[in-house]
Amino acid sequence: MEERWNDWKWQFAHRITTTDQLKQIIPLSQQDQDEINTCLGAFRMAITPYYASLIDPSNPNDPIRKQAVPSILETRVDENDLGDPLGELADSPVPHVVHRYPDRVLLLVTLQCAMYCRHCTRRRAVGEEDKPITEAQLQKAVAYIRSHTEIRDVLISGGDPLTMSTAKLEHIISSLRAIEHVEIIRIGTRVPVVLPMRITQELTDMLRKYHPIWINTHFNHPNELTAESARACAAIVDAGIPLGNQTVLLRGVNDNAETMKRLLLGLVKMRVRPYYLYQCDLSCGIGHFRTRVETGIDIMHQLMGNISGYALPKYVIDAPGGGGKIPVGYDYVVSKDDQEVLLENYHGQRYRYPQPKQ
Ligand SMILES: *Cc1c(COP(=O)(O)O)cnc(C)c1O
Ligand code: SF4
Repeated sequence: MEERWNDWKWQFAHRITTTDQLKQIIPLSQQDQDEINTCLGAFRMAITPYYASLIDPSNPNDPIRKQAVPSILETRVDENDLGDPLGELADSPVPHVVHRYPDRVLLLVTLQCAMYCRHCTRRRAVGEEDKPITEAQLQKAVAYIRSHTEIRDVLISGGDPLTMSTAKLEHIISSLRAIEHVEIIRIGTRVPVVLPMRITQELTDMLRKYHPIWINTHFNHPNELTAESARACAAIVDAGIPLGNQTVLLRGVNDNAETMKRLLLGLVKMRVRPYYLYQCDLSCGIGHFRTRVETGIDIMHQLMGNISGYALPKYVIDAPGGGGKIPVGYDYVVSKDDQEVLLENYHGQRYRYPQPKQ
């Protein structure tokens, strides 16, 4: 058992996908089961045994459970819900490529994930079909990137790219590395959080051949900071890969300063640099996870100055309709004119900064 538990393929093959399997792990009333089954008609469930083991079965509001187990609230349609909340289809010049910013693109290589997060932005597509990008599709995407010399940075995303075999991933990465103007290759993955045993020596040995590689992962709650996830993050960083983290602000999961502080400081201890804190977007059926924007601004305001700048992500709203990421936050500039800027520090005390004469 112990050996298989640490085998990522065993974890992947034994994911919890039905209510019958789920009720072996957490108590579910008949009503709970009926509700989950209703959700499964619209959005699928898959929870690795590892991630399920982090759920406190006695707590119906457990933050891990909320991210993994469907809620009937997902079937509630909100008037603001969008099928393509970030307008990615409009910015896709060829299938599998999203080119929104001048010098960097997303390359979507698979729709498969190790776990299907209940708050997923890409839930319109994720999990509908498990096949990774075909060779012909990959060649078209690579040809686009090759012919656009302004692309310096390719972000391999999905789905979760690390659910693919190391050989398939290497094929994609080496195709990109062969393009001279591609300076940085990034991978977006939740595997260190939900399937940390996937971070094998074989994988890191492959990745380190293609530096500079950067990875961004997706921790949302301090309960996800375990010995296993710490080992996975250490293996990535020890391979010379800078590791960042993107958190989604989720109501009832991490929407208070105390939880966020434990998460951010815990990440820094694991040598993971908090990068973005995302306002929850308008994907279908995740309205119950949305907080007001003031909540995010307030959390960041409470943390600023009290913990290191290294621990503070940028709080952004990915603008609905394809506007891209827009930073939002407390305004520490009280006023400014030709003579001086009036500033407020983290204690609320005010300071003047005289402007230089023109
Ligand atoms: C977030 C994002 C990127 C990467 O942006 P960075 O700020 O460089 O991390 C690139 N393309 C799209 C469409 C994105 O949403
Ligand atoms: S790992 Fe990422 S893409 Fe996959 S379900 Fe979770 S949030 Fe969505």
